[in-house]
Amino acid sequence: MDSAYDRRVVFPSELGNSTARQLHDLSPALIIPLGSTEQHGPHLPVDTDTRIASAVASGIAERLAGDWLLAPAIGYGASGEHEGFPGTVSIGTAALQLLLVEYGRSAGGWARRLVFVNGHGGNVSAVAAAVGLLRREGRDAAWCACRVDGADAHAGHTETSVLLHISPEVVRTADWVAGNEAPLSDLMPRMRAGGVAAVSPVGVLGNPTTATAQDGSRIFAEMVDDCASRITAWKPGAGGFLQ
Ligand SMILES: [Zn+2]
Repeated sequence: MDSAYDRRVVFPSELGNSTARQLHDLSPALIIPLGSTEQHGPHLPVDTDTRIASAVASGIAERLAGDWLLAPAIGYGASGEHEGFPGTVSIGTAALQLLLVEYGRSAGGWARRLVFVNGHGGNVSAVAAAVGLLRREGRDAAWCACRVDGADAHAGHTETSVLLHISPEVVRTADWVAGNEAPLSDLMPRMRAGGVAAVSPVGVLGNPTTATAQDGSRIFAEMVDDCASRITAWKPGAGGFLQ
């Protein structure tokens, strides 16, 4: 068996499927989905953010030419605002920040650069701080967000539509109900004190009952386009939040 064979085959697209030998001498760029495990109302699964981040990251990796490698998702995040709902598992901002820093330090030993694709708003301060530290340590790290203009906040039209597009089999349309549709800025004071439960007993911020797979397809494409173009424009040495 020619030991150099694995190194000549097509570049592997997923970290989980790759062998150490395939990655030897490659110094690839790594794209890491970052999600959460938290309640998403009565109609969406607790891994909704992880599903969205994974699908968007996969779409980005397919879109980008070159040696981009898709990592397995990090499926736990900072979801303290959803405590009190069964199914929520939050590791908090401090633990997530440390996890991401150690992830970057380890992966940075063989990956040329890394970008986290974040699917959960509660992770923002942890990922921003972790990427900032990794950059100060000399690693080429960045992050981008799965977001679109005009999105509602949580388990509403936006996320439900995207799931109808990427994972229709897990959307329980018989159980969906409208939640609190007030702007997030109006809800924040009460949410800071009592979490999402204080403003929406059903755990929904927005209205999922208007969701469609067609809209989900459009929103999903926008998320992929937005992140892919930011990553394409990302120059070595620049970084942080790609905007
Ligand atoms: Zn979500």
